[in-house]
Amino acid sequence: MTVVFDQLQKDDFDITAFFYNPNIHPWKERERRLQTLIEYADSKRIPLEIDEEYPLEKNIRMLLDAENRCYACFKERLTATAEKAAELGIKNFSTTLSVSPYQNQSSILEAGSVASEKSGVRFIYRDFREFYKESIRISREAEMYRQPYCGCVFSERDRYLKLKSPGQV
Ligand code: SF4
Repeated sequence: MTVVFDQLQKDDFDITAFFYNPNIHPWKERERRLQTLIEYADSKRIPLEIDEEYPLEKNIRMLLDAENRCYACFKERLTATAEKAAELGIKNFSTTLSVSPYQNQSSILEAGSVASEKSGVRFIYRDFREFYKESIRISREAEMYRQPYCGCVFSERDRYLKLKSPGQV
């Protein structure tokens, strides 16, 4: 997360962070990740928008119905991000998912492009995976909470069973 903000700021983007994660289960895990972002954004003086809704049933139904649950999950979250950007009059959106070597980056790019077309807001995609180790170092040094699994209840199970989610590589 940290390096994506840093790199985009280096590219002269004026950042507003947006937290929208109905995919994170259980609630306590979502709260912990949100609190981490609140503290980080505060320390960097990055404005933060938070979507407080937690439509658990709807989200689980969507994941169960999807042919590829991770693609559906990316698309849903990136669509919400693009819509929030449009609402705020922001011309571009991006995602911290782009730093993860575990996520399928072509799925993220496709989901972001679909969200961009629907909203008219430009999707800024950069492959930030080369900064992944640096992001771990920064978060460890700052004693930030690091998520132990992707987010949904399936990924929470998969980490113990050593299974890969469909959006992971
Ligand atoms: S593994 Fe991650 S990307 Fe895939 S559905 Fe679960 S939370 Fe979403």
